Amino acid sequence: MTAQLTPEVRGLLSSTVLSWLDKPPLGPFIDGSWRTARSDTLIDVIDPGTGLPVTAYAASSAEDVTDAVAAARRAFDDGRWSELDPEVREQTLRHLADLLEKDAEVVAQLEALDTGKPLAEARLDIEEAVAVLRYYAGWATKVEGSVIPAPRRFVATGTREAIGVCAAITPWNYPLPILMYKLAPALAFGNTFVAKPSEQTVLSTAYLAQLCAMAGIPDGVVNVLPGAGATGAALTAIQGIDKIAFTGSTRTGQAVMRAAAGTLTKVSLELGGKSPQLVFADADLDAAIDGVMGGIWTNAGQVCVAGSRLIIDRRVHDEFVAELISRTRRLSLGHGLAPATSLGPLVSAVQRDRVAAFVDQAAAEGANVETTSELPDEEGFFVAPTVVTGARPGQRIEQEEVFGPVLTVLPFDDEGEALRLANGSAYGLASSVWTTNASRVHRVSRALRAGTVWVNTYGVFHPTLPFGGVKASGFGRELGSAAVDHYTELKTTVIDL
Ligand code: NAD
Repeated sequence: MTAQLTPEVRGLLSSTVLSWLDKPPLGPFIDGSWRTARSDTLIDVIDPGTGLPVTAYAASSAEDVTDAVAAARRAFDDGRWSELDPEVREQTLRHLADLLEKDAEVVAQLEALDTGKPLAEARLDIEEAVAVLRYYAGWATKVEGSVIPAPRRFVATGTREAIGVCAAITPWNYPLPILMYKLAPALAFGNTFVAKPSEQTVLSTAYLAQLCAMAGIPDGVVNVLPGAGATGAALTAIQGIDKIAFTGSTRTGQAVMRAAAGTLTKVSLELGGKSPQLVFADADLDAAIDGVMGGIWTNAGQVCVAGSRLIIDRRVHDEFVAELISRTRRLSLGHGLAPATSLGPLVSAVQRDRVAAFVDQAAAEGANVETTSELPDEEGFFVAPTVVTGARPGQRIEQEEVFGPVLTVLPFDDEGEALRLANGSAYGLASSVWTTNASRVHRVSRALRAGTVWVNTYGVFHPTLPFGGVKASGFGRELGSAAVDHYTELKTTVIDL
């Protein structure tokens, strides 16, 4: 198809990106090459900044899923990747990281066009993906086993082995970093891989597939299945996969877990959140305002760890909220590729309408809704950053994941109430506490029920820092050494002397 790009957007894209968009529709990437999908379903790739289709791809059918899993199985079983010397896998992954870094601007433009996020944020995503890949490339040669103190007539060892075929199902908010949290450790330890990106954002995953081939990763080791929920459901129901790593909504995570029970496939689930930011009156309030803003306006609030509940000391509530709104008004809403943009559109019209419905309901239930900015003239899926005060604890806007630029503010009178509000959520992904009181730092971070607590900062991610949730935010930890458990099996060998 010919991309329906506005002249402004066309002028902001590199010639490589334009030629990539004008290719025939992408299909599945199986056994090292692009296939024609065995389905007639074409899915448009929409530019969220204009609402226009910019290319299309063919959704992978159940037969394509079978082929991709069979290709990954063959590639694992014949040892073309798992039985390479670890340093060869390390060098190959480093080569892939170099290729991705070399094409970083192309991939960042594709990502900004596909997700709607500001180009500056997309560039950080690609940097993060490269860093995660390099970090796990190093792990290929660092995982060691152990000698286990069994009775003396035996020698017993514990060794780490690849699991087999790993599948990843990923969401649309951080397509490449979230894929890399799974792909990089899986490949480092010798597994083979099948990726199912979100139907909303296939471009960067597809681009990476071709870089994998260029880096010398053998055919069949990395396979990609563009497609929607039906493709994901087929992937979770099929025999032949040893592990499914899922990131997405809690509801879909539950469906994945149910399906995986049928084949007894291991799962790890990175799910939704409703993360609290606790601000005490003794905090550096200036820094806290910037931290709270970064925590909720980044990627227009479409962040699993969005700090979407500000829980604030009543004594500083009014001045803090007023200053936060005033600084938020300085953000510039616009197309993700436009250089002046600091806040982009949401990924789709459906998501925009969903967020609007949350806000309308909160207003109808008596909360105060403050919209901070005018919407741009363009036809994109824009939502102005919105601050909701006066909501009741337990109200829908305070409990459910909105996944948009909406901050709900709740005042507290003492530390106990702050903690009750913070932990009064089905979710437990991330949290933060802003205070200069050292004892409070320890008390509150110990009491918060969340996979991550940030203190006087927000949203710090790094390849070495394990990340994941508790309660309805899922289980399992990605990143850091925690991924060794996810992508290897422990084998016990007992030798009778
Ligand atoms: P989603 O659950 O709608 O979709 C996620 C993925 O699952 C997509 O690839 C989708 O096609 C696929 N899918 C849909 N139905 C399926 C099924 N029945 N079986 C298998 N796969 C299926 O989520 P989304 O809207 O793409 O992303 C937003 C959600 O992701 C939010 O809830 C957000 O909090 C969560 N998220 C969590 C993290 C984390 O690390 N915890 C990170 C990013 C996003």
